[in-house]
This record gives sequence, C-alpha cells and structure tokens, in this order.
Amino acid sequence: MQLTFHGAAGGVTGSCTLVQTERARVLIDCGMFQGGAAAEALNRRPLPFDPATLDAVILTHAHLDHSGRLPLLTRRGFRGRIWCTPPTIALTEILLRDSAYLQVEQSTRCLRRRTRGGRPLQTRCIDPLYTDEDVSATLRRLASCAYGKTQEVAPGVSMRFVDAGHILGSASLMLTLSDKGQTRNVHFSADIGENGSPLLPDPHPLPDADAIILESTYGDRDHRPLDETLVQFRSVIDQARKSGGKILIPTFAIGRTQSLIYHLSQMHHRGELNGMPVFVDSPMAVDATRLYQSHRELFDDESKAAMAFGCNPLTFPSLRLTRTGDESRAINNISGPAIIMAPAGMCTGGRILHHLRHGLYKPQNHVIIAGFQSHGSLGRRLVEGAAQVRIMGEVIAVRASIHTMGGFSAHAGRTSLIAWARAASAGRMPRHWFLNHGEDRPRQALADAISRTLGVSPHLPKLGQTFTLD
Ligand SMILES: [Zn+2]
Repeated sequence: MQLTFHGAAGGVTGSCTLVQTERARVLIDCGMFQGGAAAEALNRRPLPFDPATLDAVILTHAHLDHSGRLPLLTRRGFRGRIWCTPPTIALTEILLRDSAYLQVEQSTRCLRRRTRGGRPLQTRCIDPLYTDEDVSATLRRLASCAYGKTQEVAPGVSMRFVDAGHILGSASLMLTLSDKGQTRNVHFSADIGENGSPLLPDPHPLPDADAIILESTYGDRDHRPLDETLVQFRSVIDQARKSGGKILIPTFAIGRTQSLIYHLSQMHHRGELNGMPVFVDSPMAVDATRLYQSHRELFDDESKAAMAFGCNPLTFPSLRLTRTGDESRAINNISGPAIIMAPAGMCTGGRILHHLRHGLYKPQNHVIIAGFQSHGSLGRRLVEGAAQVRIMGEVIAVRASIHTMGGFSAHAGRTSLIAWARAASAGRMPRHWFLNHGEDRPRQALADAISRTLGVSPHLPKLGQTFTLD
C-alpha cells in the first residue's frame, strides 16, 4: 500500500494524492496549483500518472485547489467515477465552468495582445488548460456519496465521508484499504473548518486510523478570535461610513462569501449596518449563496434555530447580488460608502481586480483581506505592505488602508488542528502521520506541536514523494 503526494506538498494548492494497492489505484482530489506564474506553470506539466489506470477519484470538496485539474484527468483517458457529496457536485459545476471560461478568455486576450504587438505567438499562452467541453465530460463522471454512507470505490477500497465544516459539502475522508489479507484505515482530514465558525458544523474527528493525512495551512498560528475580528470589522465599517469610502473584500466565491453575508446579516439585525449597501459581485458567488440556502439541513444548530424563527442568516435588505458585467461596472459609479465582495480570494483574477484598480489609490477606501494569501499573489503583496502594485498591466498606488482579518478564515487555526489531531488519536495512535496542505513554516510548526503533544513524528512529504504503509 502506497501514498504519493502529487500536490499540496510544501504548499497549499494543487491537492492530489495517489493511493495504491496491488489491486487498486485511487486519487484523492486533483486540484489546481494557484498563486503566481511559477505555481500555475505546475498545472501545465504532464500528469505524473496515467489517468486511464485510475479506478476512481474521490473529491473532498469543490474548491479549485482540490478540483481544478479534474478536467485534465478526463481529457487524458480517466473513465471512472469521481465520488463526492451532493452539494460538492453542484458547487464543482459552478467552479469548473467558471475556471474553463476564465482560461479560454485569458488565452484569447493573450493571443490578441501578441498579435497586435506583432510578437511571436506562444503555444503556452494560447492554449487554455481545458475548455467547457472537458468540464462537461468531467461533470458526467461525478457520483454522489452522502456523509456517513460507506461506499466501495475500487476493488478492496471503501470510503466514508464525514462533515469537515470547511465549506458546504466539504468532507474529511475515511478510506479502508484491503490488500493481501491486510486492512488499513487511511484517513484524510482534507481542508477542515475552524471550531465555532458560523453556519456549518465543526469538523468531525476521525478515530481508528492507521495513517492520518492532516492539513496544516495555519499550523503556526491561531486566528484572531471571531468576536475580536467582528469588532475590527465594525470599526472599518464605521470609518468607511464617516469618510464615504468603499470597503473592498477579495473573497472566495464559495465559503468566505457566505460566512461574511452571515455576519453582515447579523449586524443588520442588530441595527449596526444602517442600510449600507453590500454588493456580492460575482455570478458564481450568487449561485453558491443560493445553493447554501437550499441546503439548510447541513447548517449548524444555531443557524437551524435562527431559520426556525424565520430569520434567514443569508440575506438582508441592503444585500445586492450582481451578476452581469454591466452591473459590476456600475458599482464603480456609486457614491458614498459601500461594501463590495468579489473574487478571486487571493486577488489572482476575477472582478476584484477592477474594483482594486478603481479603488486602491483612494485613501478613503479600505481593503479587507479575510483569507489565506499564497506566496506570489497580489493579495499577499497587499498584506506585505506594497506601496504600489501592478493590476491588468497598470501600476496602481496603494493608498487605501489594508486590514487583515484572520478570524473569518474557513480553515482551522493551530489550536483546532492540534485538537483534531488529539481526537484522531484518542482511541489508538495512528502509526503514520503526514502533514500536507501547508507552506513549509506552518507545516513544520504543526509537526513540532504534534510531536510534543502526541509523541509521534509526522512526515512532511515533498512533491512527488511516495510512502509505503506497512
Ligand atoms: Zn478548501
């Protein structure tokens, strides 16, 4: 039995782990590398395995850094099933269609620029990674498996999903491998949510593992407590109201957007928003919000109770959901304070770029960075205090105030990760520990903490590294 880490090994994107026995080959996630040209070049490398030889793929959740390379599998011969939860099926369709659209558009723009500039055309620039047709072929392979149900996915390989509390439909994975009379439980945390986050339940622990693969995005730090973050958020809203400035929030269309809508709706109910318009500027975020609203059975107890009292936690009167490009551009012309949420969450593309281009140079404006910013991304440069940045080929001065608010994170902080690891080892201690989905420093810090608290030494897999499970 072997595990090979083909992504999210020393970084937070490109999740992709191959599980092999003598009888079966199953891939866990096939995500896109994100966050700058060097990371994105990895998406164009040939896959390090033959997709036609895979028996099945298991998708833990819809985020592109877990799902974004799935169309490359079907394009290169994968004909098995891709198992995921029912909400993940719907969210994956939204994300992959958008991803294909953006890639085709980017490549058309690149081709146009090079042609106009009389420069030689580069194949790398012209070809999108995949098209909408590839996405359709991928979506046909998605198969639903509800939380808690045991499903055989390949000879000698069965799986069960439990709620990971990260985004709607997100799952941690319990995999049971049987081969040559041996049985091993291999459990993947995948991306897990922070304990006590709103809307979704806390992540579910995974006991009785022989091997654990745990994410480590925030292995070196805790988020600021949510109540303190909300105080900071309200203070920025007050400042913007006084100065007539706009608050720009780069958000992931799925997950972060809905938790921010939740908090803003609470503020509205307490009379703290004073009718300030809040724009969710993304067709994808609008669709995802509607999907969240249609899966109330997956909300946590607090939100279910609010719903029972007729209080919908995902809407309020000054919330404006904008879909079209014209509606999006019109936001630039409104005067007075407003909150604008738009993807991409790390400012690597999407509508937030045009809002930043129009708003970053104005000192009365604010930017709230509410999520992880990977190395090389525009969001990371803003967090690091860049005085000017380049957006769509234009140099823009950064005069708006930049605020980092970690308390809204959809990822578990260090204390929750350690608590999860402790719960996973409560019955019996897993023999093998692997930390993935984290940059080197947080990953090492979490490894040190786990080794101190549990007396085990986790492996820190490198890209392409294989481990044999005895
Ligand atoms: Zn995620």
